[in-house]
Amino acid sequence: MTSFDVLIVGGGPAGATCAWALRRAGLDVLVRDRARFPREKPCAGWVTPGVFRMLELDPAEYSAGGRTCQAIRGFVVGREGGHAVQTRFPDVVSHGICRREFDAFLLERSGARVDSGRPVTSIHRDAAGWVLDERYRAPLLIGAGGHFCPVARVLGARPGSGEAAIIAQEVEYRLDPASAAVCPVDPELPELTFCRDLRGYGWCFRKGDVLNVGLGRWGASGERLGAHVAEFLSVLVRRGRIPGLPPRRMTGHAYVPARVTSRRLLDDGVMLVGDSAGTAYPESGEGIAPAIESALMAATAAIEAAGHYQSARLESYRRRICARFGKPARKLRVPAIALTPWLLPVAGLLLSQGWFSREIVMKRWFLHAMLPDFSERPWALESDGLHEREMVHH
Ligand SMILES: Cc1cc2nc3c(=O)[nH]c(=O)nc-3n(C[C@H](O)[C@H](O)[C@H](O)COP(=O)(O)OP(=O)(O)OC[C@H]3O[C@@H](n4cnc5c(N)ncnc54)[C@H](O)[C@@H]3O)c2cc1C
Repeated sequence: MTSFDVLIVGGGPAGATCAWALRRAGLDVLVRDRARFPREKPCAGWVTPGVFRMLELDPAEYSAGGRTCQAIRGFVVGREGGHAVQTRFPDVVSHGICRREFDAFLLERSGARVDSGRPVTSIHRDAAGWVLDERYRAPLLIGAGGHFCPVARVLGARPGSGEAAIIAQEVEYRLDPASAAVCPVDPELPELTFCRDLRGYGWCFRKGDVLNVGLGRWGASGERLGAHVAEFLSVLVRRGRIPGLPPRRMTGHAYVPARVTSRRLLDDGVMLVGDSAGTAYPESGEGIAPAIESALMAATAAIEAAGHYQSARLESYRRRICARFGKPARKLRVPAIALTPWLLPVAGLLLSQGWFSREIVMKRWFLHAMLPDFSERPWALESDGLHEREMVHH
């Protein structure tokens, strides 16, 4: 049996970031992941600027190693069967990364010990703390294993049992030189096509010569998306946006966003972060930034708890999550215009208006331009009753 200060299940953005922050505070951390990195992860790979800020990472430094880091300066937004409008911003408003590269980079940078290549086989607790795989022991366990995280199951989550969720599928592939030359999608302007009922959107996103096409919408985990995705792809081909059907099958899964989730965030000696906790934004489905932010909040709570991990000592994590992402609601959340039935008939008109697409869809729902992120408010929000403090780097 090998002992650590913290065991983390899952080495995606949430687990790797939590490990990074805990390692910087001098803790001994093990990350367990069923996959060997670099690994694929179904994702469009769109990250908002807060991601790089929170990770204290310069996009130029990240891309210097030959990793994909596509600057995004605007969007093309429309609705199925309708016109699309282009919105450009003066600055870079987001980046496009490839998850295979990004996740492997973050995990390696974390400095944690990694045991990967097979799923976690057992999790239990005894008088001395948590025991993982009958092999590792620690007083604190972090669940960062995504939607189907085994630690979330220990806390009572039942993924796949019909909980309201975002269901999404994508395919990512490199265009051959001939296809790249004729593909009209501007890498700086990802294309978003809202579904007729506004309960989701399809995307066509080019990162250099890598094309990522997908569709995500509200549904129940376990629900099938196949017919909708097939129709979306055939429209893209017919309209000449992509040079033929993708060469690979679409992959995806469901995930439960913040404010919709009913998952328990913590218990004695255990916290959930990222998709395991359900932290994605319900309006856009963006999950990487909130996964990273929740991981930093959990690491903060752990460092403050100073080895005493009773749930009361970890409660500040829940308060921070609620202050930042809102309290869990019992109702399914959908984009605001879909909640207002009289707006549905005029939704096509609204989405074809430059100001609506720019101010509401992009700035408010997708870029969260009005909200400071963890890099600007590192430790706590005012409503938390806690004061912001400087991060202690060891
Ligand atoms: C099709 C699609 C497109 C998306 N596009 C975007 C986007 O463009 N931008 C964005 O911000 N978000 C996007 N998201 C959401 C985003 O991918 C997730 O919110 C994000 O990956 C959450 O990070 P995480 O670290 O919590 O979980 P994950 O990235 O899922 O990482 C979990 C890790 O846990 C490991 N694991 C799972 N089970 C076990 C086990 N039993 N034992 C050991 N290890 C285990 C997995 O191998 C994995 O490495 C998309 C999601 C989908 C499905």
